[in-house]
Amino acid sequence: MKKEQSILTDQFKRNHTYLRISLTERCNLRCTYCMPAEGIPLSPKSHIMNYDEIYEIAKVFVTNGVTKIRLTGGEPLIRKDIPIILEKLASLPVELAITTNGITIDRHIDDLKKFNINNINVSLDTLSKSKFKTITRRNQFKKVYQNTLMLVERGFNVKINAVLIKDFNDDEIIDFINLTKNLPISFRFIEFMPFNGNKWDLKKMVPLAEILKKVTSHFSNENVEKIKDAENDTSKNYKIKGFKGSFAIISSVTNPFCDTCNRLRLTADGKLKNCLFSASEADLLSSLREGKFIAPIIQRAIQHKFKIRGGMDTIEKLQKPDLHSQNRSMISIGG
Ligand code: SAM
Ligand code: SF4
Repeated sequence: MKKEQSILTDQFKRNHTYLRISLTERCNLRCTYCMPAEGIPLSPKSHIMNYDEIYEIAKVFVTNGVTKIRLTGGEPLIRKDIPIILEKLASLPVELAITTNGITIDRHIDDLKKFNINNINVSLDTLSKSKFKTITRRNQFKKVYQNTLMLVERGFNVKINAVLIKDFNDDEIIDFINLTKNLPISFRFIEFMPFNGNKWDLKKMVPLAEILKKVTSHFSNENVEKIKDAENDTSKNYKIKGFKGSFAIISSVTNPFCDTCNRLRLTADGKLKNCLFSASEADLLSSLREGKFIAPIIQRAIQHKFKIRGGMDTIEKLQKPDLHSQNRSMISIGG
């Protein structure tokens, strides 16, 4: 008998089992690489998914084969109804994870434990208080750093995400990796990506090859071990021999991982994005509110997914600002 194809499989046979849900367009930081200095026009509250709508939409994805959901934003933990959202999503047969800037996570430990949410990614781009203020436009380094250490102590599986920017924090690569000597964390270096209003410039990006060169010349080739990447992993993983933790590089620009992509993104206003770089969106929330079935809309959106980076298949296309202005700012996509 012919196996029925999932509605989450695209024309290139990529099966989408991972959904990232943005809970809000708001944030308590203002990272320069993520949002324009002037901010973004925020959607009215009535246009943002409420917790029942998040659950109903997520349920359709899970019923059709999604096995992992990551909550993101904006800053997901600033939603007042976050405990209800966690409780509702935790009732689905799915692995739940969260990406946060860490500022308020100490207030949510009990809920995270109660709902079995063990995988936490924290964004931290520098170990310097003054650079933290420059990049996030807020003075919160101490809180984020202390909360990250607290998560490790409380037994969470912690990954730290740092967007590397040339001549800003690339001199900290070795310090970041040294953190993995005694901490069982994964430190992940992300290539700076272009989005609407973030003043991206290829020259500001620190590519995978350069990161590896710095690391091997400091620790020596023999001490840098390549470790196995998980299936559909967007990161290339390494560790320094004898260190408790590991480090990884996410090279969406120089080395895209589109051929094994299993990710879909739901924005806080209920739009499905079939790719981080895609300008086109499918409005699931309006259809849900009109009482329509959203599964056919999801299927259609997935069938239209481009093979590579929302159609920007070369670095030359990636450098065209007019292509990014058709997409959202990262703060309203969710990473
Ligand atoms: N506020 C949460 C946080 O900062 O972790 C979640 C939302 S944030 C948009 C998700 C991830 O996107 C963060 O790890 C952030 O570093 C990453 N990010 C934002 N803008 C980026 C860019 N231009 N290039 C690469 N990564 C980016
Ligand atoms: Fe906020 Fe996260 Fe964007 Fe920074 S990266 S502005 S913390 S959403």
